[in-house]
Amino acid sequence: LELAIGIDIGGTSTKLALIDKTGHFHNTHSFPTGNKNQDTPYIDRLIDQIKPIITSFNGTAKNLLGIGIGAPSTNEKMGTIEYPANLPFDGILPIVKILTETFSLPTFLIKDASAALLGEYYFGKGRGKENFIMITLGTGLGCGIMVNGKILNGANGLAGELGHVPVHLSDRKCGCGKYGCLETYVSARGLVRTALDYMSKEIIDSPLRKLSFDTLDAKVIYEHAKKGDELAQKVFSITGKLLGQKIAELITLLEPSSIVLAGGLAEAGAILTDPVLATIDQFLLPMHKNLVQVTCSNLPVNHAALSGAASLTWVSSQSSISYTNHPTKII
Ligand SMILES: [Zn+2]
Repeated sequence: LELAIGIDIGGTSTKLALIDKTGHFHNTHSFPTGNKNQDTPYIDRLIDQIKPIITSFNGTAKNLLGIGIGAPSTNEKMGTIEYPANLPFDGILPIVKILTETFSLPTFLIKDASAALLGEYYFGKGRGKENFIMITLGTGLGCGIMVNGKILNGANGLAGELGHVPVHLSDRKCGCGKYGCLETYVSARGLVRTALDYMSKEIIDSPLRKLSFDTLDAKVIYEHAKKGDELAQKVFSITGKLLGQKIAELITLLEPSSIVLAGGLAEAGAILTDPVLATIDQFLLPMHKNLVQVTCSNLPVNHAALSGAASLTWVSSQSSISYTNHPTKII
């Protein structure tokens, strides 16, 4: 059985898993990504977490194909993570070089959103689809776009920043420094900001008003919406409409066969997707109607990014510099 180590580096936690070519997970764990004040640098803490996985192979590491990493702020050509906003190091981390030298295993690096896109492509709702878009609704909003079987990467590897497309002339500040970005509305944090905004402007009564600032999160809003709370439902409706409008724009421009929603907020199901679908329908050209499937991922949370990262070890060529044998070549 051939296995690969998939790693998903996120701002809060770093997940690791041992995955086979069918997308089956054999071993998975995570550790806090931590902050810059820790004594042990992040890369050393990551190496410490990889070591026991490799040791567990007891000299049969020939079955281990390599390491695939999904991370933010990647420079895929150089195999580096550069000036990340939410990771505990500054400057440029040559992560592919360091891990290749440490473990003598082929190591690959890809943007986190592209890793999730590949995971859906090989093991999830993107299977067999050459044109599809994945939108991850977590703390922020991530997006991966596949066009004609290739990951849309852009001239400099910076394409797909749907989270930072402006939706409103607004005073809602984004982590990127701009105002009115989509993810300040359509994300777990955005949902909370909309709830606070709506409560301050409207007078509808709701149990949400009695919650402290710290306890009001996306999950609580979802639970109240599910129980029929009007204010919580309105918050989901505002969020879904904005997402639906942006999806309609993507469909008008790119005409994918499907849009896959993933991440914590997508677990809200119909409470989110009903206003999304109604709004898409409202904004689409007649010729685009009823052609595009909008679905929620059926992979467990984080599995798409981990399995997509791991898949790089069996679909890529030997080098992380060119993905020449990659069936989903990066444009
Ligand atoms: Zn932004």
